[in-house]
Amino acid sequence: MTPTENSSDSTHFGFREVRREEKAGLVRGVFDSVAGSYDLMNDLMSAGVHRLWKSAMIDWLMPQKGQHLLDVAGGTGDIAFRFLDRVGGEGHVTVLDINHAMLSVGQDRAIDQGRLHGLDWVNGDAQKLPLTDKSVDAYTIAFGIRNVTDIPLALREAYRVLKPGGRFLCLEFSKVEAPLLKQFYDFYSFKLLPEIGGIVAKDKASYQYLVESIRLFPDAENFAEMLREAGFGQVKYRLLSGGIAALHSGWRL
Ligand code: SAM
Repeated sequence: MTPTENSSDSTHFGFREVRREEKAGLVRGVFDSVAGSYDLMNDLMSAGVHRLWKSAMIDWLMPQKGQHLLDVAGGTGDIAFRFLDRVGGEGHVTVLDINHAMLSVGQDRAIDQGRLHGLDWVNGDAQKLPLTDKSVDAYTIAFGIRNVTDIPLALREAYRVLKPGGRFLCLEFSKVEAPLLKQFYDFYSFKLLPEIGGIVAKDKASYQYLVESIRLFPDAENFAEMLREAGFGQVKYRLLSGGIAALHSGWRL
């Protein structure tokens, strides 16, 4: 059984097995706790590399003026802001996130940066999108999908809301294969990262969960298969930084 295929009434929350109905509340607790220090922690944990990965995502998306992007698990607005910058403000992004605290950090950032147009902020669940069928040109999800309880359901929802010809892009942690890099990465993830989370975010347990959830997420080949099963065509992926992260692309044909 893979980590995404638990028995019908249980699932993983990090390495812990929990009842499926418990997971969303536990994930919400993590992001309630880390929202205030989320951006700073991202920079610290990745030495700023998450910015390059997010730019790579927008490069591959190739946004066009007038497009409507749905950025799911959009949190503090990183993907949305990059998209709008790329289209010179001539587009629209719906930022959807299950967590109020993350959305309000994003909204504050938008105001601070003078971003008054082209954004709407929706509190919602990737598994039950409050959007009509075939209504968006592109769907993005960055470091969000592994937190979702029923990933195949979220992927089917993505497919449903995309217009025919619409693009799906997912940025997520993946699997490091090179032995030396893997050794260093494991040490860094399990020993150092939760300690940094404890000091900076005052929440070691949440960062322990984040590390564990990364390890349980399927490798790029298996996730690509999940995209095909959800109906996507032209499924491709690119490994980033030796497989620490991966970008996944698919189309609603
Ligand atoms: N996309 C942002 C980024 O890359 O910086 C935020 C990523 S953060 C690691 C994960 C986000 O997923 C959190 O904001 C969390 O609230 C959100 N999330 C978790 N489960 C979700 C769900 N079922 N539906 C929508 N958002 C969810």
